[in-house]
Amino acid sequence: FEKERIAIIGSGNWGMAISRIIGLNVLDNLDLFEKEVRVYVYEELIDGKKLTEIINTQHENVKYLSGIKIPENVIAIPDIVKAVTDATVLVFVTPHQFLPKMLDQLKGNIIPGARAITLIKGFVVDEKDELHLISKMISDKLEIEVSALMGANVANEVARDEFCETTIGCKNKNDHEMFKTLFDRPTFKVNVVSDVYGVELCGSLKNIVALGAGFCDGLGLGGNTKAAIIRIGLIEMKKFAHMFFSGVREETFLESCGIADLITTCTGGRNRKVSEAFVKTKKSWVDLEKELLGGQKLQGTLTADEVYRVLKKQNKLNDFPLFVTIYRIVKGEIQANLITQFETAYKKD
Ligand code: NAD
Ligand code: 13P
Ligand code: CA
Repeated sequence: FEKERIAIIGSGNWGMAISRIIGLNVLDNLDLFEKEVRVYVYEELIDGKKLTEIINTQHENVKYLSGIKIPENVIAIPDIVKAVTDATVLVFVTPHQFLPKMLDQLKGNIIPGARAITLIKGFVVDEKDELHLISKMISDKLEIEVSALMGANVANEVARDEFCETTIGCKNKNDHEMFKTLFDRPTFKVNVVSDVYGVELCGSLKNIVALGAGFCDGLGLGGNTKAAIIRIGLIEMKKFAHMFFSGVREETFLESCGIADLITTCTGGRNRKVSEAFVKTKKSWVDLEKELLGGQKLQGTLTADEVYRVLKKQNKLNDFPLFVTIYRIVKGEIQANLITQFETAYKKD
């Protein structure tokens, strides 16, 4: 391609923060990229006005990333097929529960030679309780190469240009430079590695551990306990990755997508926040998501369920006492205070 044309699929809290980064980097590299960056926005009305119109006139997503200006070359589009027309690079950043339907709409509408990168955390588990990585799912469905970007990247902090790092997993060496140019900023340092599955597994599995960290906060426990949950969580993440996928690299867990994302999510993330409230208020997850997240979506409870189904089917529940204990607390089968007794609590009754 003479120039890369970027389409972003998803416009929530992280979707908008990354749109800002991409928009700015495209403007800095107009020799490499088409100026216009298209973002697919799931249309909704805000005080009677279309969100896409608000974004395209005020250059701000007032609902999902309020107070942050988005570069004017970032254009909101409510039609997903129009948003990806002629795109050579597709950036997937939607809550994972909405992805399968989007892929159905996108199939047959992607130009040859396009590639994708996923920023989505979560898995898809089919009716046979088999686990599918999001990158693999996109790649199979659209028949394109898919990379992954994950890191210690709480969206609001990235949007304020607070320094952080991120990891891109990309198999094709020819695309390393392009992805680095597209994402790297002085305050958003990209490291590119080849281990796509390792990067994605880290980002997706940490959301389960984040719930455990939130339970600790809800119980009024201190840093020591949370550190223990983080450490054991990391061990179960590694065990899960190695058990079900070959070729995942040890070093990946020391990249931003591994230990660093785990720490930030257990300190400042939405999963942590809502699970703290789950302990303190005893309200339902659905109600808390609505009350506390203002339309943003909770991924960890879905992921805990996805992983539990796979472990159960594979007869591996005993190998993952922390993941299983977190799942059972999420489901209300056991009390949150059993988070510190996960070695026995995972055995139901
Ligand atoms: P979000 O949690 O803000 O989700 C809201 C988005 O979902 C909005 O764009 C909304 O329009 C859309 N939506 C709602 N209903 C929909 C429907 N029926 N169909 C399609 N879209 C619908 O989204 P986000 O924070 O951008 O998260 C996207 C992904 O990025 C997730 O996998 C998340 O785990 C990951 N992530 C988030 C952060 C963060 O700090 N927010 C950081 C890193 C990674
Ligand atoms: P939460 O979805 O828990 O806010 O985590 C955000 C994140 O993934 C930071 O990298
Ligand atoms: Ca992240």
